[in-house]
Amino acid sequence: MSLQVVWLKRDLRIRDHAPLCEAAARGPCLVLYVYEPEVFQAPEFDPSHLVFINECLAELDHRLRERAGRVTFRVGRMPDVLEELHRAHRIADLWSHEETGTAVTYARDRRVAAWAQERGVRWHEIPQNGVIRRLRSRDGWSRRWLERMNRPVVAPPEALRPVAGVDPGRPQSPADLCLPPSEKREAQRGGESVAHEVLYSFLHERGVSYRDALSSPVTAAEGCSRLSSYLAWGAISLRQVHQATEARRAALRQARAAGRAVDARWARSLSAFSGRLRWHCHFIQKLEDEPRIEFENMSRAYDGLRENEFDPNRFAAWCTGQTGYPLVDACMRCLHRTGWINFRMRAMLASFAAYHLWLHWRPTAVFLARHFLDFEPGIHFAQFQMQSGVTGINTVRIYSPIKQVRDQDPRGAFIRRYVPELRDVPDEYVAEPHKMPLAVQHACGCGIGRDYPPPIVDHAAAYQEARRRMYAIRRTADARTEAQRVYRKHGSRQRPGR
Ligand SMILES: Cc1cc2nc3c(=O)[nH]c(=O)nc-3n(C[C@H](O)[C@H](O)[C@H](O)COP(=O)(O)OP(=O)(O)OC[C@H]3O[C@@H](n4cnc5c(N)ncnc54)[C@H](O)[C@@H]3O)c2cc1C
Repeated sequence: MSLQVVWLKRDLRIRDHAPLCEAAARGPCLVLYVYEPEVFQAPEFDPSHLVFINECLAELDHRLRERAGRVTFRVGRMPDVLEELHRAHRIADLWSHEETGTAVTYARDRRVAAWAQERGVRWHEIPQNGVIRRLRSRDGWSRRWLERMNRPVVAPPEALRPVAGVDPGRPQSPADLCLPPSEKREAQRGGESVAHEVLYSFLHERGVSYRDALSSPVTAAEGCSRLSSYLAWGAISLRQVHQATEARRAALRQARAAGRAVDARWARSLSAFSGRLRWHCHFIQKLEDEPRIEFENMSRAYDGLRENEFDPNRFAAWCTGQTGYPLVDACMRCLHRTGWINFRMRAMLASFAAYHLWLHWRPTAVFLARHFLDFEPGIHFAQFQMQSGVTGINTVRIYSPIKQVRDQDPRGAFIRRYVPELRDVPDEYVAEPHKMPLAVQHACGCGIGRDYPPPIVDHAAAYQEARRRMYAIRRTADARTEAQRVYRKHGSRQRPGR
């Protein structure tokens, strides 16, 4: 009997799960999920992540039971958990997906690799997205991504051979792990079938207005795909999303060619969406290629820019949604409740922290990692660096939190929902309530400095100062040399000649 262990990581599904299929085909198969203290005690981890993970695991367990299998749960450090199983049952092969994670999971994987080698256990790691391990050059990356995405989706195993005499353990709630309860009352529900429902409703109904809806927080929650959490925890694979999208695009083209009425917005929307699926891996590839960017500036020319100027009061105001900038505060408070906000508002939150408040991206990124239900290390840290201007290869983009209200929430619908103090503020003051005359403050029941704070910094002054400091570095020879190095290593080759 050669025991096969499938180690579940961020791949909590039964369909398109190559390690599960390979293991099931070879012998008795133990499907293992480990609650690792170093992972759930890490500052990026939030109890809402655990709730979502458990919802995915509950469905996976159910699907495995239909096939004579089940999930085996353990709490402990890796590879100690494996060692215990190995002593009792002799593991022949360990199967998992490749993971581009944080320093904690990277170090853990290295320990597991050393353990497997020492014990003579074969560890098979299989890619699950378009990220290429040990990539030599970014040239030709897109072609390789597409080739991966077009490979056939792996069907679930028909049956598993159970392993006798193994205590299955049980799922662990936040309380079991001594974590506080999740505070996200409006978070998305986890699970593979919900992931497919969300995908279907996007491709067949909601997605038609994607291009027009994605920038405003008023429309994005409905108009964006909302697949990010399912992708981040692997309740659905990127390949499944890519193939379903391409199939839908082809069907729409055929319908149009056959003379049937097709809303013209579909083509634009699905083209934009399809591009973002590529970005998903493009960003994760950066962390895969250079794990230090979880902690350090991508371009070393910006080292020292913000490190010694961290203001804890500004940080606290940003974290709690009390900056006096209504859209910034509404986005933050929305995150506290739901764990999701759209791309543009994420970019504005990161930009406001980096430029207006001059906070280093690392603590702000960790804080939002915890509050994003879809925390994906590779996308997250690379995006944070980009929105903070320290990659050296991206345009310095300082979002105005006032202009964003005019563009994205002019009537203040989103703001009023999440910042109830501003509910009765007249539309004309919703972007800058501190400009309300006292009589208007009285009339609408919102006193500035009493019910809602005045702006924590002056936008125009902070904007000018941030630009000055960024361009002072950007023009140096050092910054240019670094930019070339960063581009060679990480730049997408979509725009040749940069
Ligand atoms: C500061 C900052 C931090 C971010 N952190 C994360 C994170 O931790 N996890 C995460 O999944 N996304 C992150 N993003 C990217 C993006 O905001 C989210 O992927 C998107 O808002 C998720 O909603 P959706 O699934 O409805 O996206 P859709 O617009 O429907 O896009 C579909 C999918 O494409 C991918 N995608 C979309 N936009 C981007 C992008 N700009 N970069 C890379 N991939 C993208 C995601 O996988 C997303 O699920 C971050 C963006 C910023 C500015």
